[in-house]
Amino acid sequence: MDKLLFGISGLPLGDGKLKFTYKSAITYLKSIGLDAMELPFVRSVNVTEKNKNEILEEKTKNNFYLSAHGSYFINLNADEPIKQEQSIERIIKGAKALSLVEGKSLIFHPGFYLNDSHKETYNTIKENLLKLPDIGVFYRLETTGKPTQFGDIDELISLCNEVKTCKLCIDFSHLHARDNGCLKEYDDFIKILDKVEKKLGREALEDMHIHLSGINYGLKGEKNHLPFEESDFNYKECLKAIKDFNVKGCIICESPILEHDAILLKNTYYNL
Ligand SMILES: [Zn+2]
Repeated sequence: MDKLLFGISGLPLGDGKLKFTYKSAITYLKSIGLDAMELPFVRSVNVTEKNKNEILEEKTKNNFYLSAHGSYFINLNADEPIKQEQSIERIIKGAKALSLVEGKSLIFHPGFYLNDSHKETYNTIKENLLKLPDIGVFYRLETTGKPTQFGDIDELISLCNEVKTCKLCIDFSHLHARDNGCLKEYDDFIKILDKVEKKLGREALEDMHIHLSGINYGLKGEKNHLPFEESDFNYKECLKAIKDFNVKGCIICESPILEHDAILLKNTYYNL
């Protein structure tokens, strides 16, 4: 990608009166200066043969970027094999729907450790990721917000090196919450980006997918998302590190005040 795009997760808030469709959401987000939206396939896949044409038309007309967030009901390390198979099916279903509107990145949380060791979990998840077909959509593995969820930065970088259809989604707020508020200063963010560059190459930073939000957390990790100004997440230093590394790709804002905070991020980034 030749630049860094800013967008939101799901439909915008707007004035609170108007109910958006994906089509009208694209028009609205573009009109307020945003470039991207992550389609929430988290409970159901809601891009179909019926609405795909109007979404695609609006996307093309506005030169807009679409990604999608896969189902919340995915555990590639579930105890029961049937649940692993169902997880794979849900991922494929999301990827196929996203490809109908020419999206390229399906983001999801790969699974939970449950009672397995980190190494066993890694291997099971890797075997399942290798079963995913290459349909022109990258399977973006997201860093997770709780220590019981598989997906710290090292595990995911390693999977991206081993499974060629997989790419990274860095959720810095999750990483912060996962380790009880570990990302405090500029250097903390730099270390992560430096690691990605060293292990996945410059090309990973040229097409990066990032989630950002204010976040509430405790010893067990993530509790809930917050507006940036109500949280200790240091989005300014995070954006500074992203800018200094010349990261390209897409930043999706997951704050409860969606487009308002996405614009805050965009303005902050361009005023650095
Ligand atoms: Zn997520």
